[in-house]
Amino acid sequence: MSLSFAKRLDNVETSAIRELFKLLGKPGIISFAGGFPDSAMFDVAGIRQAVDTALSDEPGGALQYGATEGYQPLREQLAGFMQSKGVQGLAGDGLMVTTGSQQALDLLGKTLLEPGSTAIVEGPTFLATIQCFRLYGADLVSAPIDDAGVQVDRLEQLIVQHRPRLVYLIPTFGNPSGAMLSLERRKRVLELAVKHQTLIVEDDPYGDLYFDAPPPPSLLALSHQVPGSRDWLVHCGSLSKVLSPGLRIGWMVAPPALLAKAVMCKQFSDAHTSTFAQATAARYLAAGLMPATLATVRATYGRRALAMGQALRQELGAAVEFVQPQGGLFVWARLTGAGGKLRDAGELAQRAIEQGVAFVPGAPFYCADPDRSTFRLSFATAGEDLIREGVARLGRSLA
Ligand code: PMP
Repeated sequence: MSLSFAKRLDNVETSAIRELFKLLGKPGIISFAGGFPDSAMFDVAGIRQAVDTALSDEPGGALQYGATEGYQPLREQLAGFMQSKGVQGLAGDGLMVTTGSQQALDLLGKTLLEPGSTAIVEGPTFLATIQCFRLYGADLVSAPIDDAGVQVDRLEQLIVQHRPRLVYLIPTFGNPSGAMLSLERRKRVLELAVKHQTLIVEDDPYGDLYFDAPPPPSLLALSHQVPGSRDWLVHCGSLSKVLSPGLRIGWMVAPPALLAKAVMCKQFSDAHTSTFAQATAARYLAAGLMPATLATVRATYGRRALAMGQALRQELGAAVEFVQPQGGLFVWARLTGAGGKLRDAGELAQRAIEQGVAFVPGAPFYCADPDRSTFRLSFATAGEDLIREGVARLGRSLA
């Protein structure tokens, strides 16, 4: 006799990327494969101070069960953080704390998606979102993107055609694409939401990780310019990429009726996000430590992104094309086939492992019609010298 599993699991495969990650343990491999921030960036001293303050100020709050919506001082700090980035009319009660933004995506799946419903996502998009939405039985439709983010005319056609329950976008430094939705398109997306009464989900874990100039305001920050759009907008934030993913602090801003349903579902899932982590994050933000941390991560990742871009141009030349990232953690590249070189990034990944460098082929990031010439390189975890060495190995794999 074998175990019987829920039918919904038939919709999801374990990711091809997992298989690749098994190879990363090989000694000497330089990895551009992960989506992790660099653990050397963690502000250990600041977090220790925040833990101490949380435990001495309010041990009951930090160690006891808490409200499902989140620890109130953290909700208020997060609302203040969002206000500092141009969001208007948001109080602590307007957001819920989630266990990473990953949980927000799961709660959206749980509250909005079911077999027969459709979600539109970008092609390519965050792999875990594809899998999570499929687990709830949704049909996924892919909206094409270019360097300025999702193609809005095409998106409108798809909305009219499919009447989706939601449209999931990563407007700023997308994973994996690195693309940044232009200001003009941001406004049009908000107008589409109102015109077609369609829920737009803005997933924004990377918006704070810009290198030189700040990106355009988030959809949430722009929503006050488009009357009615706040009723059709969800915004997911996260401290994972800027402070620490291990804290598992994310948050979701959503229309009140949706927020109430998501809170109900979270109650049955984990009751609440760790109060210890929430109290720590609240004290960290309250102590004003975030601006210095942001300055450090922006400068470090900015240097690494430049080093990777230069090395790619030098070592791979016309065989790859990519847009130099302005923020985030990733270079999204395409094999051009120039000079009769390889065009299949899956094959390149295999060869690259043999040369001692790992990256992720792009195909699994598409819910349909994968572009097999694409691949994702993370510049977050290796220093500049290792980046140059890794890209040189990549060049040798392609030779
Ligand atoms: N959304 C996107 C686009 C991501 O890249 C990630 C992490 N890789 C997440 C959500 C989840 O992040 P977390 O749960 O750590 O907040």
